[in-house]
Amino acid sequence: KDFRNNVKPNWCPGCGDFSVQAAIQRASANVGLEPEDLGLVSGIGCSGRISGYIKSYGFHSIHGRSLPVAQGVKMANRDLTVIASGGDGDGFAIGTAHTVHAIRRNIDVTYIVMDNQIYGLTKGQTSPRSEAGFKTKSTPNGSIESSLNIMEMALSADAGFVAQSFSSDLKELTQLIEQGIQHKGFSLINVFSPCVTFNKVNTYDWFKENLTKLSDIEGYDPNDRTAAMNTLMEYNGLVSGLIYQNKEKQAYEDMVDGFSQEPLVNQQLTLDQEYFDQLVAEFK
Ligand code: SF4
Repeated sequence: KDFRNNVKPNWCPGCGDFSVQAAIQRASANVGLEPEDLGLVSGIGCSGRISGYIKSYGFHSIHGRSLPVAQGVKMANRDLTVIASGGDGDGFAIGTAHTVHAIRRNIDVTYIVMDNQIYGLTKGQTSPRSEAGFKTKSTPNGSIESSLNIMEMALSADAGFVAQSFSSDLKELTQLIEQGIQHKGFSLINVFSPCVTFNKVNTYDWFKENLTKLSDIEGYDPNDRTAAMNTLMEYNGLVSGLIYQNKEKQAYEDMVDGFSQEPLVNQQLTLDQEYFDQLVAEFK
């Protein structure tokens, strides 16, 4: 199973997104998928290019809208494994509402965010994930807004699967993506993926110094939501690993009447002419 295609990524050398691409490819193969089993929907940004770099069905959507497209794909063809991906600006600024509602809706989609705490494609502006005081061209005196703690937000929205990793830790990241794909319901995986060109604060060395692996915290239980929230607050969100999983939470598609039967893509389109004429008459 080879998820490589012949498109050469045009990310900067050293960009964290290369490892995320490799982790998605490895995880997809490890869980037994073939390229034709995978639908990869991306947003806009450097990371949004990823849907062109992995051998699968790919959809490069618009800014902040990878999740509505991904959920539509899953609802139309539940046989596909659907991954949505993009950057922190894409998912946690313009796409925040879609992120929150996808979490609570719980359609079986894995959302992988390449979080570099900056807008890279537009050459370095403060993002909602940048820390207060962060200096960029858009905030030359330092950002006066605080960073959005996305993991806490996901837990508050009753997420069924919340994880975080670091692009340097390919082993952990690959395992988490495998778990996310296998989780029945929406899974959010936030990946610290350094922008080596524009973010000179949150570098590889910075994350190595500041991230704590949850596996190093004695007795950490990813089934305990309260403990997960307390740990996130204690470590200011700088943890990696499986933060929380609720295997009992029912996926949206399992609660929709009739959805578990024939996928839409396999159904015959039939037109009820009388009903159609009636609808047209109403709009005249
Ligand atoms: Fe990666 Fe930053 Fe270069 Fe974009 S600008 S490709 S995020 S290193």
